[in-house]
Amino acid sequence: MIEHRGAPRIVLFGLGGTIAMAPVEGGGIAPALSPAQLVAAVPGLAETGIDLEVVDFRRLPGASLGFADVHALSVAVDAALADGADGVVVAQGTDTLEETAYLLDLWHRGPQPVVVTGAMRNPTLAGHDGPANLLAAVRVAADPGARDLGVVVVLADEIHAARRVRKTHSTGVGAFTSPNGGPLGYLVAGRPCVLHRPDGRFGVPRPAGPPGARVGVVTATLGDRGELLHGVEERLDGLVVAAMGVGHVPEVMVARLHEIGGAIPVVLSSRTGAGPVLTDTYAFPGSERDLLARGLVPAGFLDPVRARLLLCAALAVGADRGALAAAFAAAGGYTSPEGWPWR
Ligand code: ASP
Repeated sequence: MIEHRGAPRIVLFGLGGTIAMAPVEGGGIAPALSPAQLVAAVPGLAETGIDLEVVDFRRLPGASLGFADVHALSVAVDAALADGADGVVVAQGTDTLEETAYLLDLWHRGPQPVVVTGAMRNPTLAGHDGPANLLAAVRVAADPGARDLGVVVVLADEIHAARRVRKTHSTGVGAFTSPNGGPLGYLVAGRPCVLHRPDGRFGVPRPAGPPGARVGVVTATLGDRGELLHGVEERLDGLVVAAMGVGHVPEVMVARLHEIGGAIPVVLSSRTGAGPVLTDTYAFPGSERDLLARGLVPAGFLDPVRARLLLCAALAVGADRGALAAAFAAAGGYTSPEGWPWR
């Protein structure tokens, strides 16, 4: 039970993105608006009685955010929560929103809601979704029912777990979906309704600085001869394979992946966008059984970009092969959350 202390106090961090864009000379739009300007454009926000503090953190397109920005944001979020905020909202570009949200989730240990939002239609368009998304995000951040969910993503009146949500459309306002399991809940007439709660939390200790490991993603494709795998172990500290189907690659890639896996961790994920990598079904060269027997680590339900972030976060705290296997087994859904190495 949360002690009642009057109006909930929420801190909004503005990072830029379409939600904060305005026309620029020469045509097109770019990040320009401050979080105070975003808040001023939201009808009904003042009437919620929520005490909202704004932080003009970055004004960048989502694609230009990096690990240093997300690390600094995570530190700032913790400082705001330690200072008594009841919840946090992050407004940013949708291009990397699912990645920022997941990395923040890996580093968020407290019970307070941390809500990431953005917009698909920019402020110059009829039907700009920024104000509605911001209002919904603030309402979720202030809602006691959203505590202990970890980081969530709120857009289009849906509440998604950061560990599952994906941007699955490049332009539509319903771009954010959770293909594995669906949303956690919805906003109904402005009220957050959480219908499912995720099983366990998967926190990794946050390193003192941004993760430095170089981890790449390579997608296996029809007729692929593995050209992109040449010299990978000299250039990278970890590799994620976005494999076909349940974890398959062309036979011609197998020997190279085996060699790379002897030098750096190689994680096997699926490029399909939903569903897990299997572990024990197919038995041909290049199948998941073949690749796992050669030391690749199966990512379960984690999609390639999430697998990369988990690998980066785990390597940043010195995870060995055993800890990596346990982390992917738990976060990927093969074992219970009890097997997670950082409790
Ligand atoms: N299309 C993006 C957005 O929705 C641009 C960005 O990520 O900054 O915000």
